[in-house]
Amino acid sequence: MKKTTGMDRAATANWRPATRAVRGGTWRSEHGETSEALFLTSGYTYDDAQTVADRFAGEAEGMTYSRLQNPTVAMLEERIALMEGAEACRAQASGMAAMTAALLCQLSAGDHVVAARAAFGSCRWLVDHLLPRFGIETTVIDSAVDGEWDAAIRPNTKVFFFETPANPTLDVVDLTYVCDLAKAHGIVTVVDNAFATSALQRPLEFGADVIAYSATKLMDGQGRVLAGAVCGSRAFIDEVLLPFQRNTGPNLSPFNAWVVLKGLETLDLRAQAQSRAALELGRFIEPRLAGAGGRMLHPGLPSHPRHDLATRQMPRGTGPIFAFELPGGRAQAFALLDALELVDISNNIGDARTLMCHPASTTHANMGAEARGEMGVTEGLVRINVGLEDLDDLKEDLDRALSAAGL
Ligand SMILES: *Cc1c(COP(=O)(O)O)cnc(C)c1O
Repeated sequence: MKKTTGMDRAATANWRPATRAVRGGTWRSEHGETSEALFLTSGYTYDDAQTVADRFAGEAEGMTYSRLQNPTVAMLEERIALMEGAEACRAQASGMAAMTAALLCQLSAGDHVVAARAAFGSCRWLVDHLLPRFGIETTVIDSAVDGEWDAAIRPNTKVFFFETPANPTLDVVDLTYVCDLAKAHGIVTVVDNAFATSALQRPLEFGADVIAYSATKLMDGQGRVLAGAVCGSRAFIDEVLLPFQRNTGPNLSPFNAWVVLKGLETLDLRAQAQSRAALELGRFIEPRLAGAGGRMLHPGLPSHPRHDLATRQMPRGTGPIFAFELPGGRAQAFALLDALELVDISNNIGDARTLMCHPASTTHANMGAEARGEMGVTEGLVRINVGLEDLDDLKEDLDRALSAAGL
């Protein structure tokens, strides 16, 4: 009997998450290759004129141009959709291409968006600067206060847009509450799931409508390529996202799709191992901070204001990223970063390497002091992505750097 291909939805639907991550979407050519094939082609040829006419008319299956379909990209899309529990997915050139497409494909002048104030810097730029330029009203709220979502709704509210856990303050949104509220008002929820990924949190199970990803982070997991994805119902992807995407072209290259396919094979293992290491490192650092008047922001630790909710929404681990605030402001944060010998100073996340950064002077520098203050991105805040190195080496490095910074 022929082995199931990962493109057969009925056959793959019962696969457990780790199996989906390794085999989902695998679509073998006539050569029977083990690893996914890399189709570096922009176009396709046809045996006769009627074949291509039928494809353009939508009356026959088949590829016509890589802005519309590509076999390697299609494998990634099917794998991500399967892992997310979504009917459909379209890959994007980067996480920001995914966010922009997920919003602009469905918004028009006169619509209103409610967005979380704690967000990736460029996500805030979309909400604060890009959408208003096109006559789309926006309101930013404290996403961790349920009542602020209710209070911000207007008759023209079309979309709720948020991350959970959020960058870089690790705010946790109550997915069930916010998605139920949105449904009751006919509002579409767009969730940026980059910090958790489907390995740790599946927002569709809590009632979310659209999941937008930076696959650059945990999905690639090894800091190699920029990539993104948007997942949702078949109707949303085909009828709302696709007309926007095929005519504006934020497409992912087949090569980058292939790299992410390889990354996904180990996502389940990495996400859990990095979550465990982040929890241990958080436990190691927290007493040092508390003694000096600092503050830990880690959804996996009981000191987080929404720890119980975070562990309910992410039962398999709360992710590799956490942040903490040093009482001595920027000078102390820089002293800590400069004393690191193993851990790299880097603003990337989700990588197998442990990386640390100072959001106020990097990822959140452009948004201005007022927005930073509102979001809780203080001068003493540092963010860490915990990788796959030996935990004892990481503890030694952090121990040395914390001491050098006077903690
Ligand atoms: C990195 C990131 C993005 C943007 O993704 P790119 O791939 O860098 O374009 C969006 N949202 C969150 C939460 C991120 O961490």
